[in-house]
Amino acid sequence: MSGYAYTVSAQAHYDAAHFLRNYKGKCAKLHGHRYVVEAVVQLTELDESGIAFDFADLKSALRALADGLDHENLNELPQFAGVETSAENQARYFFEEMRRSLPEPAASGLLYARVWESPTQWAQYGPTAHR
Ligand SMILES: [Zn+2]
Repeated sequence: MSGYAYTVSAQAHYDAAHFLRNYKGKCAKLHGHRYVVEAVVQLTELDESGIAFDFADLKSALRALADGLDHENLNELPQFAGVETSAENQARYFFEEMRRSLPEPAASGLLYARVWESPTQWAQYGPTAHR
């Protein structure tokens, strides 16, 4: 996509436990994070209020998903059955669920979901950038 666009973003957080199988290191043991997830939507048009996509709607869709992971052991959840509970796979989970839950054109405008597992480390999932 070329040209100019508006980008809007909202965040939610959840506290969760997890561990990584097939990993040699500290993260192989059960431990917790205060995760932050961000969803980023890019749109080219504004509505009559000057809004690309309402922050309240973006936040409530994200909040609903984050609440499902809050105070859980992620390894025990059906959302991650058969996949490792890495920040990468959590970001993919949020991206795919947000794609399903947002109305158009916001769903198609979803750029990525990003999951911080600490203030200095994040992983994100979305389409590869066009060059
Ligand atoms: Zn961890």
